Amino acid sequence: MKILIDNGHGKTTPGKCSPDRSFFEWQFNREIAIPLVEELKRRGYDAERIVTEDDYDVTLTERCRRVNSWVAKLGRKNVILVSVHANAAGNGGWRTARGFSVFVAKVASDASHRLAQSLYAAADKRGLRGNRSVPKSHYWEANFAMVKNTKCPAVLTENLFYDNMKDLAILKSEEGKRKIVDLHVEGIINYLNTLQ
Ligand SMILES: [Zn+2]
Repeated sequence: MKILIDNGHGKTTPGKCSPDRSFFEWQFNREIAIPLVEELKRRGYDAERIVTEDDYDVTLTERCRRVNSWVAKLGRKNVILVSVHANAAGNGGWRTARGFSVFVAKVASDASHRLAQSLYAAADKRGLRGNRSVPKSHYWEANFAMVKNTKCPAVLTENLFYDNMKDLAILKSEEGKRKIVDLHVEGIINYLNTLQ
């Protein structure tokens, strides 16, 4: 099983920062994706980042192509994709929405649903549910390119809101980042364990 981790956005992606410009999403996504891959490898899993470029934004088309080339090589049952992000409720200014969410495509495989639910359970366990209403399924549906145009089980995590002051404090803290890495490790491994 190849575990692919996408750290969405690059330094040149417009917007994608907290209202006080103390937090940049492209950077945060890497601060989660890098230790996440390291921890999965340490535990004996085959994990890697699909985007190691930092200085420019690798297009969604290219990101999907990289994932799908692994799928072509290994088969769709032997690859999963988790795209790591942080959320914003608005376009500037502080907002009230808080918490973790995980997205699948509007038409998604049962495997994608179960991977998403496993990640949600690991986030909820760590007190990261937030203050919004959560779908009964515990995942959200949206046709983001990374989940819609990839041919393996694929989810996209939105790890709290960087335009909420309380969430931002968690996102910037070492403890908060550790929790977010850990929930991905646990959510991914618990899902993989159901396949055996
Ligand atoms: Zn994002």
